Amino acid sequence: MTVFDAHCDAPSQMSRLRDYRLDNPDAQVDFPKMRRGGVGASFFAAYVPASLQGEDATRHARRLLDLLDVQMAANADIAAYARCAGGVVRNRRAGRISVLAGIENASALNGSLDLLREFYRRGVRYVTLTHSADNDVADSCTGSGRWGGLSPFGRELVPAMNHIGMLIDLAHSSDATMREVLGLSAHPVAYTHGCCRALAAHRRNIPDELIRAIADGGGIVCMSIYPCFLDDGFVRTLEASGLESQMSVEDEFIKDPGNPAKAAAWAAVRRRLEALPRPGVSRVADHIEHAVNVAGIDHVGIGTDYDGIEVTAEGLEDISKFGTLLDELRRRGFSRKEVSKIAGENLLRVLKIVRKRV
Ligand SMILES: [Zn+2]
Repeated sequence: MTVFDAHCDAPSQMSRLRDYRLDNPDAQVDFPKMRRGGVGASFFAAYVPASLQGEDATRHARRLLDLLDVQMAANADIAAYARCAGGVVRNRRAGRISVLAGIENASALNGSLDLLREFYRRGVRYVTLTHSADNDVADSCTGSGRWGGLSPFGRELVPAMNHIGMLIDLAHSSDATMREVLGLSAHPVAYTHGCCRALAAHRRNIPDELIRAIADGGGIVCMSIYPCFLDDGFVRTLEASGLESQMSVEDEFIKDPGNPAKAAAWAAVRRRLEALPRPGVSRVADHIEHAVNVAGIDHVGIGTDYDGIEVTAEGLEDISKFGTLLDELRRRGFSRKEVSKIAGENLLRVLKIVRKRV
């Protein structure tokens, strides 16, 4: 069984000077924790904030991918890039963790299919179309509906991604964007990190109708462990805590990651967030179970969003605890084979299909 996390934001933490070789006390992901959690593969996505556009967005993605290259080179005995499903299997046989590169926010493409090809050549295997705002490709679920779905460039981009074998990621996309992409894409698509809107109303979550449509196209929906997506009650708890106003402490840390006082201030906020009552492992399993009921067992995966979230579900504070989620699925009656599909085999299958049709 390959345990394969569909989404984490590791490159952002690399820019905050985290060394993935070490077992860092405040980290959600590093290689020792992946090992302990039995996680054999993960997409490490280069996250481009919505505030960056044009060349700035491209430069940011390149910089994060460069940082990822540096850490991969320094950890060649532990981890290796995989560029396809077969690469994940080969790395596992060689005893290495697989890292697959992704880009979160297609603004990094700066409206250029040449840049799409360049990123593919350097190993990127999925691109998330949008982030928290509408961009030059498509509308975000937290945007203002600028295009009513895809932009004219977005409508060129979808077939171009199909053609070169780049997986399309619909996390963060608006419902209209998802519908339009599903109508246009010749290949299965992924929704790499989010939860079910039927269980929690957050706009980032995906409604049943679109879960079904992604499954009908052969794709995959991957459930996250972010408390705000898991449970509406946590959103209210967070609002009442007053801790949201402390989030600027993270921005200060991001601007000056080598400053121990700023790192400590952010770690202190995170500890206060962790002290809040949070949805736990069982709530994550509820979302997985719901998605399986809607999509079928072959179309659900897990995309934690570790390293991109300030607080996690209780009991899943870092990736070393991943196994407790799989244990919960077994406890609920999922068979060994079904758990292995959710844990990674479904995502591997989607990667294989997307690549095979090139
Ligand atoms: Zn995200």
